[in-house]
Amino acid sequence: MVSRIFSAFALSILLLAGGASAQDAKPAKTKPHVIVIGVNGMELDIIRPLLLKGQMPNLASVIDRGAYGKLRTVQAPNCPRVYSTLFTSTNPEEHGITGFLVGGMTANTNMLKQEPIWSVLSSNQVTVGMANVPATFPVMPVNGYMISGMLTRGKNCEDGVLCAPKLSEVMGGDAVYPKQMQTELLKKVGDFYIDCERMPSAADLKGHELEVIDRWLNKVQTIREQQTRLFDYLLSEHPTDFTFMVQSCEDRTGHWLYPISPFNVGYNASVNSARPEAFPNQYIAFDKVLGTILKHVDADTYLFIVSDHGIKPLREFEEKDPHAHMDHEKTTPVIAKHDFADGDDVPGSFFVMGPGIKHDFRVMGLAASVYDIAPTILHLYGLEQPKQMHGRLLSEIFESSGTKAAAGN
Ligand SMILES: [Zn+2]
Repeated sequence: MVSRIFSAFALSILLLAGGASAQDAKPAKTKPHVIVIGVNGMELDIIRPLLLKGQMPNLASVIDRGAYGKLRTVQAPNCPRVYSTLFTSTNPEEHGITGFLVGGMTANTNMLKQEPIWSVLSSNQVTVGMANVPATFPVMPVNGYMISGMLTRGKNCEDGVLCAPKLSEVMGGDAVYPKQMQTELLKKVGDFYIDCERMPSAADLKGHELEVIDRWLNKVQTIREQQTRLFDYLLSEHPTDFTFMVQSCEDRTGHWLYPISPFNVGYNASVNSARPEAFPNQYIAFDKVLGTILKHVDADTYLFIVSDHGIKPLREFEEKDPHAHMDHEKTTPVIAKHDFADGDDVPGSFFVMGPGIKHDFRVMGLAASVYDIAPTILHLYGLEQPKQMHGRLLSEIFESSGTKAAAGN
């Protein structure tokens, strides 16, 4: 049943990808241009002071020109679980990607039981470009290209533990669709890490804290630079109607370098007083990436910046659970997380700008959720929301609700 649904939508895309070339397509009206940037674990508690200090000028300009707010997430959120909800608008039990591990195996796209937005768009002749979106390995055929992200398997990867293979080290499936694009990327962009770096273990850190922290942060910066080069190349050389790109180093840094105080659970002065600016600096660095992406955003482009969840310091009652964060690396001294037992209180966030979107408009409270992103994007293309999707159109962010929908069709 599950594989039948999957192959049905995979097949229709294959047929479409093979059958529709630019030449035989009827002169279509221009489709809306939508770019979605995912930032894992974007935490407004950290971002707000940076905005006030003027250290995130690009994000500030998006807020000025758009709508933004918190994004209610799923219970016990983690990246594959939430991204799969975000791109299918169904709950984790329905789409099947309930966590990093599903049935003892690292989650992969063969386990995905609901149709993702890139498939809906592909079968409606929208061109799709995807890069580094979590839980998209092995890649699926789309009307465009796809480069996998977090949970890509490769050299030295064990089930259930994050790892960051380079494109050339990927094993157990394809990380690039169409396959021949891999050769082009290796040539034009160079080899690159597909996901952020794994966090160091307590044993690695002990006695060499500053050295290990700085080495790790340098590697993270290298990964971000590679990713920026990749995104810039794809947006320049392979522009698509719909583009979805994700960064994951912010969340990874927050887990063990969140600027906590001595009274916080898990505080260890030799680690936590070493580089208290490391986590805020990730967002300052993200803002520069955003600057590169904004060069590809014109007045007719919709830009979405979304995060799957936030990240907060451990709470007092979790002392008994010695910062176990099995999903990442069970020996890392994790001092902040997002999958608290009490559910929805580590929301993500979203920022949207584009034609017909309100300016400097804040959605208060938790009115928007990760389920609403896919239906809202489908609406921009004038596509009806598939029955299985639980989210709603975020009509309140539009100047006059709902009218923009058919503009591109
Ligand atoms: Zn995380």
